[in-house]
Amino acid sequence: MPRQTSEHIPELRKIIHVDMDAFFAAVEQRDRPELRGLPVIVGGDPNGRGVVATCSYEARRFGIHSAMSAARARTLCPEAIFVRPRMEAYREASRQVMAILRSYTLLVEPLSLDEAFLDVTTATANGTLAVDIAREILGRIHRETGLTASAGVSYNKLLAKLASDWRKPHGLFVIPPERGFGFLGPLSVGKLHGVGPATVKRLAAIGVETVSDLRTLSRETLIAHFGKAGAWFYGVARGIDGRPVQPSRQRKSVGTERTFSKNLEDRSIMLVNLEEMAVQVAVRLKSLTLAGHTVSIKVRFPDFTTVTRAHTATEDIVTTDAISAMLPELLDRSVPKAASVRLLGITVSGLVHVQAGSRVAQQMSLLDEILIPR
Ligand SMILES: [Mg+2]
Repeated sequence: MPRQTSEHIPELRKIIHVDMDAFFAAVEQRDRPELRGLPVIVGGDPNGRGVVATCSYEARRFGIHSAMSAARARTLCPEAIFVRPRMEAYREASRQVMAILRSYTLLVEPLSLDEAFLDVTTATANGTLAVDIAREILGRIHRETGLTASAGVSYNKLLAKLASDWRKPHGLFVIPPERGFGFLGPLSVGKLHGVGPATVKRLAAIGVETVSDLRTLSRETLIAHFGKAGAWFYGVARGIDGRPVQPSRQRKSVGTERTFSKNLEDRSIMLVNLEEMAVQVAVRLKSLTLAGHTVSIKVRFPDFTTVTRAHTATEDIVTTDAISAMLPELLDRSVPKAASVRLLGITVSGLVHVQAGSRVAQQMSLLDEILIPR
């Protein structure tokens, strides 16, 4: 009989992870029927330095995946159809999906436009099963948006997220409390939340490849090797994850960046690009009714070293002019004379809400957004 310690007794929460299937590409295939059934790649220019944002399942069969260079994707599948992203369409679909999720619980934590955690512990207190809620959500998303999603149901975020990936696309998978420990055992350690490629390598070097392997290391050993993260690894290897679903993920910054197909050498052209980005950032701040206090610029050089330089002001930064005024000095501080750059970006952080001249704590406004479904 397997040893059952108190650590193995799962919590009694009910968590659902909902993840849209090939989201950007699916929106394109929904809106342009001629693209259905074809390898569709949403992303940057395959003739430049663009990357794949999302690709359809038809394209995945060629080994194409997100974050791959668009040029590489075209080599793998020359007949693929490249589509530039239409963020406004994706945001609209995302708003619809999040509104559906919020009709079941206010404890919805979006991780990006196309995925979210829900804590339905309260919603199931009357005997309703979490799996039935998840099934209904998938049905409603399909009927109301014409898109498909997958869902995972379990007793914490770690397992709910792994479960949503298990039967993709348009899948539903449940990992009940008594199965969590067994489900995790054969998985490779890289599937665990917080175990990145560098950790995978370090663990492989000592013969640890699966979660079962990881369980052979004591908590003390893991902490000795990985510090605080070691304690986390010890827990997740046993299906322990106490992270709450946090509905008010606060926006920390507004920014944009550009990678140039040809490195920029001329300082005045760098400045023109930064000023154009300042316009975009100011428009975005205005639409979110936000003001910032810190302007940062990010510079990446041809050898991929990256620097950021920031300037903080006491007054609210809202307008293009206020951002632009800081750019020449920030550029001087980050780019040495005669240096060329491959990427430039601007970020405004230290955000506060501004409404009709008065400031409201951003937290309050986000709370409104959660409580008053759009
Ligand atoms: Mg997705």
